[in-house]
Amino acid sequence: MKVVVQVKLMPDAGQALALERTLHVVNEAANWVSAVAFERGVPHVYELRKHTYAELKSRGLGAQAAQHVIKKVRDAYTTLKANIRAGNLGKPGSRRRLKAETKPIVFRAEAAQPYDDRCLSWQYDAGTVSVWTVQGRVKNVRFACSAGALKTLQEHRQGESDLVRRDGVFYLIATCEVPEAERYEPGRFIGVDLGIAAIATTSTGYKAAGRGLNRHRKRQLELRRKLQKKRTKSAKRLLKKRRRSEKRHTANQNHIIAKTIVTEAQRTSSGIALEDLKGIRQRVRLRKPQRVTLHSWAFAQLADFIAYKAKRAGVPVVFVDPAYTSQQCCECGHIDNNNRVSQSVFCCRNCGVVAHADRNASHNIARKGEAVWTAGSESRVPATP
Ligand SMILES: [Zn+2]
Repeated sequence: MKVVVQVKLMPDAGQALALERTLHVVNEAANWVSAVAFERGVPHVYELRKHTYAELKSRGLGAQAAQHVIKKVRDAYTTLKANIRAGNLGKPGSRRRLKAETKPIVFRAEAAQPYDDRCLSWQYDAGTVSVWTVQGRVKNVRFACSAGALKTLQEHRQGESDLVRRDGVFYLIATCEVPEAERYEPGRFIGVDLGIAAIATTSTGYKAAGRGLNRHRKRQLELRRKLQKKRTKSAKRLLKKRRRSEKRHTANQNHIIAKTIVTEAQRTSSGIALEDLKGIRQRVRLRKPQRVTLHSWAFAQLADFIAYKAKRAGVPVVFVDPAYTSQQCCECGHIDNNNRVSQSVFCCRNCGVVAHADRNASHNIARKGEAVWTAGSESRVPATP
């Protein structure tokens, strides 16, 4: 399976300048290629190459870099087309879609640029890379990453890496092909309830407090409001930076939560049951102030991270139908809309059990997970003659 490892580059001043210059040059070139592609009805790479390669070389791009720029542009159009087809940009004729369809794709000055092994080499023991730039090859650029990430890189890195700069910091994003662990037969299932007060609650008692995360979001939101009122260029820039940093913060939290859950499952030979999240927005109706704290993408990301880390560790994951998980009593099975007394309290009208609403839901999800797994394994076992 594919694993992505991100390392932070720590170039000295001269190296940083060369990297910066390189990203600017290749992305300027990409914008020019994009315009050519757009004019010509987005031809295939081969055709596009005929119209652009000479010019790219004359702009100081090496053969590899020129190829990568052309391919990057072509890939961007393929992705855009797929997004349009999937309806991610709205209905035909919507403003967003029209905007995307009537103009060439534009690359940011410091957008990611792919590097293959001919223009980038890794010295793992020294913790450095040597990388092609428009000012020639730059050697001994130091990089930093965790010990685990370094090991993954060393053993499984394969193919291209992306050079990118975000908020002034250069990163290399490397693709690794890691063998999957063999999936074991789980003894039981850990149910994971995703919610607002607690981001994730498991049937084994782990609770990822949402308070810190929600407080962080709220603070960011207040700042954003202040900035939005200003409408100046610098405010806009700061806003963009904030949004990105918020996304990173959430992703970081999600990584930690996912790791905790998967590690526990692995340690106890359990499977993980998750709610099928399609439609969480419809399901969870909230009062306005809470709505800002609930981003469906953040939950989807957490589910993705769990599924991905589980796959790597050989932990079985099943997705269950979320219907009634919050209204059903995990003790007696009674389903009642009134069981859910409030956002946080569950009180069964039938057997009188009182529980944390998310604890109760997580138990239901675990039970459903077991049922899904059992049904699946019955069909997996070949019939004996
Ligand atoms: Zn009950």
